[in-house]
Amino acid sequence: MESVLSTLEITPIPCLRDNYAYLLRCKSSGFTAVVDPSEGSPVLAALDGRLDYILNTHHHWDHTGGNEALLEAYPQAAVFGHASDRGRIPGQTEFLEDGETIEVGLHKARILFVPGHTTGAIAYHFRDDLFTGDTLFIACCGRVFEGTAAMMHASLQRLAALSPQTRVWVGHEYTLANLGFAQAAEPDNKDLVSTLARAAATRKQGLATVPSSIELELKINPFLRAETDTDFARLRSWKDRY
Ligand SMILES: [Zn+2]
Repeated sequence: MESVLSTLEITPIPCLRDNYAYLLRCKSSGFTAVVDPSEGSPVLAALDGRLDYILNTHHHWDHTGGNEALLEAYPQAAVFGHASDRGRIPGQTEFLEDGETIEVGLHKARILFVPGHTTGAIAYHFRDDLFTGDTLFIACCGRVFEGTAAMMHASLQRLAALSPQTRVWVGHEYTLANLGFAQAAEPDNKDLVSTLARAAATRKQGLATVPSSIELELKINPFLRAETDTDFARLRSWKDRY
């Protein structure tokens, strides 16, 4: 049973130039997982002698590049990804479908299939926390590489419908640049002004801008706010050229 007394400890691990891996630790059981290890060494340095799960949001190398190094050190760790990413995620042992649940110690996560950035993209939805990979960024979304704009729009709308308090942990520190584009798209949005000031101060201290929340994203993220597929597609192609 999920207990209110149990905490899921979440630590962002900066990787490569601007990626985040996330270390998840169930405080009650010590059960440990990592989301999207871009590379091995910073994650290995952050681990405390235990790794149970590697949770990949999609197959791109900057989200899975550390899988093999981690498996060398922790050969018993299970590697999760979408069922359709079979053959694309190094070391994958678990083939997830939409709606399945997994357990990180006492903490359950529901798998949300969110194709668009890639055709095998998933998000991991814990009670209070959402890991979005390259589907949802702070004030933006990922490029539509393998899916269609309509597919990506539908995926983002699913995330937008989650509880507003849900914390949002994204795959890249693109926040300042994203907020710049968002301001170009929505010049009269006052929430963007205050969010940009806060993010700039955070980055000036060398800190991460994660987590955001669904509540904040609904106010500042033009891609979550796009009402139709056509609006979304227009915005995405503008951002691609921005
Ligand atoms: Zn990607």
